[in-house]
Amino acid sequence: TAQLMEGKRGLIMGLANDKSIAWGIAKACADAGAELAFSYQGEALKKRVGPLAESLGSDIVLPCDVGDEDSIDALFAALEEKWGKLDFIVHAIGFSDKSELRGRYVDTTRGNFQMSMDISVYSFTAVVQRAEKLMTDGGSCLTLTYYGAEKVMPHYNVMGVAKAALEASVRYLAEDLGKNGIRVNAISAGTIKTLAASGIGDFRLIMRWNEYNSPLRRTVTQEEVGKSALYLLSDLGSAVTGEVHHVDAGYHVVGMKAVDAPDI
Ligand code: NAD
Repeated sequence: TAQLMEGKRGLIMGLANDKSIAWGIAKACADAGAELAFSYQGEALKKRVGPLAESLGSDIVLPCDVGDEDSIDALFAALEEKWGKLDFIVHAIGFSDKSELRGRYVDTTRGNFQMSMDISVYSFTAVVQRAEKLMTDGGSCLTLTYYGAEKVMPHYNVMGVAKAALEASVRYLAEDLGKNGIRVNAISAGTIKTLAASGIGDFRLIMRWNEYNSPLRRTVTQEEVGKSALYLLSDLGSAVTGEVHHVDAGYHVVGMKAVDAPDI
């Protein structure tokens, strides 16, 4: 894959640490020759993201809180100044109040519903809106989603509703931007132990359930999500848009617990 992303410039949003899905994707893109910029949320994360970016040869590390329009504008203005043009973006961002990622969906508050939709759904549209202007030679936009959008998963609650809306927005954005050669896709990743995931109730049990029940009898790694992202972000995926691509060891195709699963 050494030449796959040669000459391509992309923005990675949502890197928190080396466990982040964004890190698996960033590494795969850098290995394939892409030039990367990173955005981080809040000063505390700058100390983490700076050295990680540097290790991939990137010195473009910019703050962005996607809940703030001015902050998004400032990020894209800085990128326009540095690069002028952009080839791809990765949006690996989601957020909900931890206290509502357990218990019942029906108890979701209006405030957390609005915040979860704003940060986890609208923010993708907001960044694609800005990226479109810089993708003058076409481009590829990618977001991250989860099976809880399609089926009820324990504790996922308002995030499941948000991911369903995110997946629908991928399709609408794909149609809007297709005329300009810009593709928009999502990866539905299997469960991975990250900072965000640790906020979800019974996450370890959900990981084990995936291991026992997925066709590949295991969970997936950041690196595997990275490899699939490379396909969607590079020319290998040139005819793929509006797609929700599952990278979940096949978990989503199984309708019944496998008979060889041990008693859990
Ligand atoms: P992570 O904690 O490493 O990344 C989440 C990122 O979101 C962090 O970098 C955080 O700073 C960022 N973020 C939150 N609010 C923000 C805001 N207002 N502005 C800017 N950034 C903000 O966890 P992750 O699991 O790598 O999550 C990345 C994406 O993958 C999320 O959309 C998540 O829902 C999705 N996903 C995760 C899993 C999993 O099992 N870990 C599975 C499927 C999908």
